[in-house]
Amino acid sequence: MIEQMDAPLAPLTTLRLGGPARRLVTAGTDAEVVEAVRAADRAGEPLLVIGGGSNLVIGDAGFPGTVLRIATTGFTLDGTLLELAAGEVWSDAVARTVDAGLAGIEFLAGIPGSAGATPVQNVGAYGQEVAETITEVVAYDRLLGETVTLAGADCGFSYRHSRFKADPDRYVVLRVRFRLADEGGLSSPVKYAEVARSLGVEAGGRVKLAEAHAEVLRLRAGKGMVLDPADHDTWSAGSFFTNPILTDAQFAAFTARLGGLKAPSYPAGEGRTKTSAAWLIDNAGFRKGHGSGPATLSTKHTLALTNRGSATTEDLLALAREVRDGVRAAFGVELVNEPVMVGVSL
Ligand SMILES: Cc1cc2nc3c(=O)[nH]c(=O)nc-3n(C[C@H](O)[C@H](O)[C@H](O)COP(=O)(O)OP(=O)(O)OC[C@H]3O[C@@H](n4cnc5c(N)ncnc54)[C@H](O)[C@@H]3O)c2cc1C
Repeated sequence: MIEQMDAPLAPLTTLRLGGPARRLVTAGTDAEVVEAVRAADRAGEPLLVIGGGSNLVIGDAGFPGTVLRIATTGFTLDGTLLELAAGEVWSDAVARTVDAGLAGIEFLAGIPGSAGATPVQNVGAYGQEVAETITEVVAYDRLLGETVTLAGADCGFSYRHSRFKADPDRYVVLRVRFRLADEGGLSSPVKYAEVARSLGVEAGGRVKLAEAHAEVLRLRAGKGMVLDPADHDTWSAGSFFTNPILTDAQFAAFTARLGGLKAPSYPAGEGRTKTSAAWLIDNAGFRKGHGSGPATLSTKHTLALTNRGSATTEDLLALAREVRDGVRAAFGVELVNEPVMVGVSL
């Protein structure tokens, strides 16, 4: 276990933003993770768990307690069953499952961060989400003071949400177990229209796993959604706003304000419709690259708010508020942030 006092947190986040941690602990084994959590809880010390820092907006004042960085390793394949330690780098693990000829997480290629964070917001992209393949999550339960195993069905997964996100101070994920599929070297059905088009298949068709993986990485890179330290468009937390899910009444009110415009809409369960945050932002007049300060929209993707190099968290939040308020004024729809806010709010 490595311990540092007054440790800068900005370099541990993909936005490169946020003040220092009073104390930073890096844990390399499950036992060290549990020991660090128990020690902080016994001392009544605020605790922030971090993996790759790719979904975090940390305030300029930093964190007045212990930040626990999970750096555990472990990749085990047993037939189609995969177990990942929480600290494993997610995109590397995805690439290894593709090399092993297994389908199930191939469309989640290139998503930054750690395996342990994937159940937290039910990570998803291009028509796939981890809720489809997670069988179990092993976590330290801070309320019970013991390690528990939660079945996937008990994780409360929904769109970019889970019981871990709903109850952020309770569980520290140690291991995640997945059931993948052997489709004879082929991918899962291609659900996402953009991917199907670029792969030249019908939606629902399958392609070679390696092809699906490479195509997703190519599409993501074109949107600045694969980390590249030299490219400020990737100094982000990914999509900053979730796609709004509207009730029938909200959707009717929204449609009534559109005039001649036609917004994307997708069924999202009984009486609910999902629309596109990127479309709303763009049509409210915030184009790619919007902003003149040190924080701007990505020049490649409307939904990513980026640090051009010298931004503070307050600069980023000012931009986020401008966009949220502009969308509300134009369309009456309230955008909600996807990244986790630490010590700040929109
Ligand atoms: C360029 C870019 C592209 C992205 N694209 C996508 C995308 O396509 N789809 C998508 O869903 N997300 C995307 N994201 C968001 C992000 O990558 C994911 O949410 C990722 O899972 C976060 O992992 P992390 O380890 O970096 O988590 P962190 O940012 O370190 O933490 C995020 C949250 O999870 C908690 N947490 C982390 N580890 C644990 C643990 N072991 N136990 C309990 N809680 C934990 C933290 O306390 C915090 O609340 C993108 C981000 C970036 C920067």
